[in-house]
Amino acid sequence: MRVLRQGPLSIEVELGETRVIALSDGETAMPMDRLRGPDGAALPPEALVVADLVDGKLRLPVRCFLVRGRDGCLLIDTGAADAWHPVLGRLPEAMVEAGVGAREVTVIALTHTHVDHLSGLVGPQGAAFPDAERILVATEELMAFRAEPRMLPVLPRLVPLEQGDGPIHGVTAINAPGHSPGHMAFLVEGRLLIWGDLVHHAAVQFPAPEVTWAFDEDQPQARASRLALMAQAEAEGWLVAGAHLPDPGIGRIARSASGYVFIPVGLDV
Ligand SMILES: [Zn+2]
Repeated sequence: MRVLRQGPLSIEVELGETRVIALSDGETAMPMDRLRGPDGAALPPEALVVADLVDGKLRLPVRCFLVRGRDGCLLIDTGAADAWHPVLGRLPEAMVEAGVGAREVTVIALTHTHVDHLSGLVGPQGAAFPDAERILVATEELMAFRAEPRMLPVLPRLVPLEQGDGPIHGVTAINAPGHSPGHMAFLVEGRLLIWGDLVHHAAVQFPAPEVTWAFDEDQPQARASRLALMAQAEAEGWLVAGAHLPDPGIGRIARSASGYVFIPVGLDV
C-alpha cells in the first residue's frame, strides 16, 4: 500500500492496480449515551474517559470511499447530503479535492440504507451520479431503499447485492449484519476492508470492541460481526476503512491490552 495524495477531505492510496480514495462528507457529533455496554445501558463515565469529544459530544466523522479499478469506478456510500446534520453533505467538495468527477462513477454500492449513507445518491437536480449504471443494495434492505421517497429517481438502477458479489474487479462483498439487517463490508484486493458502520466511535470501540451503538438494530449481532471482522482483519494484516473512522478514514488495526488500536495511514507511513 502506498499513499499517493492527501488533502483536508480526502486521501488516496494505491493497492496493486486499484486505487482507493477516502472522501469526507463532513463531521458531526452525537450524545455520549449512543455508546452501549453489553447490558444495553449507556456506558459509565469511567468507560468514556478515552472518548474523542467535541463540545462534550462524541466526534462522528462521515465518509465515503471511491475504488478505481481496471473495469470501473465504484463509490461505496454517498453521505448524508442535506438530509441529516447541516454540517454534512461535503462529498461533492471532497470529490473536487480528489479530482474525481461525478460522471466517472460507474457503480455505487451501499454498506446499508441509513440516512448518512444513501442520501447523497439524489441531489436537487435528481440522480447525483448520472453515469452509475447500477446501484447495489443488500437484498435485506431493498424494501427500505424503495420506501425512501428521495430515491425515486434512481429506483430503475437498483440491483440486489449478496455476500460474495464483486461490484467491480478486485472488490468482494462480505456480510456484516447487526447494525442493519443487510449491512455489508467490502474487501478490496484481498487486503483493505471497507467495513461501513462496524465501528462508530473508534476511540472507545477499538479498545473495547464489545461496546455497541444505540442505532445498531440488533445489538448482539452487531457486536458479533464487529468482533469477528476485527479479529480477521488483524490476523490477516488487512488495512481497515470505515464510514465513521477518524481521519483519514483508512488505517491499520493492531492488538492492544484489552482489544485493538487504530493506526491511521498518512503520507509519512
Ligand atoms: Zn452511519
